[in-house]
Amino acid sequence: MRQFMAEVWWSSLTAAGLGLLDMLDPTERSRLESFERPADGGRFLVGAALLRVAVASHAGIAPADVSVDRTCSECGAPHGAPRIVNPRMAAPWVSVSHSGVLIVVALSTKGPIGVDVQRIADLNDPATAAEWVQQEALFKARSGGPAAGGSVCELQAPLAGYAAAAALPAREDLDIAFLNWP
Ligand SMILES: [Zn+2]
Repeated sequence: MRQFMAEVWWSSLTAAGLGLLDMLDPTERSRLESFERPADGGRFLVGAALLRVAVASHAGIAPADVSVDRTCSECGAPHGAPRIVNPRMAAPWVSVSHSGVLIVVALSTKGPIGVDVQRIADLNDPATAAEWVQQEALFKARSGGPAAGGSVCELQAPLAGYAAAAALPAREDLDIAFLNWP
């Protein structure tokens, strides 16, 4: 069976700081200002920065030079799932998730990938946490596309009390490298 190369990058809210703003583009900075609760802004900030760090590391460019498009397919506002749109680059597929104090970014070079992390205490039924994150990850990998097949794997979150999963739309083995940032 073919191996499916992917990277999963973990970070946490403690990474949030004004220094990350330099990486963001004007659209991301104005989105950041729209959050009313500081924790929501912090999760977005670290997620946007981590996405850029992961793609930049993969592509050998600076984080600020990564071009991210979050145009929502429903309404056109910049709050949709991120896509990497750098010209002259074989852009990886990416997925971002955050919950509680954890932020995770998944990247793959061979096809759509979905990732989800969830603080278990925030769920109505904590017993369903593993199933919950797998469904969310699969949904993101399929991006609303055809629902046939798909493979999911459980991820070990770096903190206790969290469930996490990564998914591919096709039945291939996941060969995942794990990284922590910073
Ligand atoms: Zn929308």
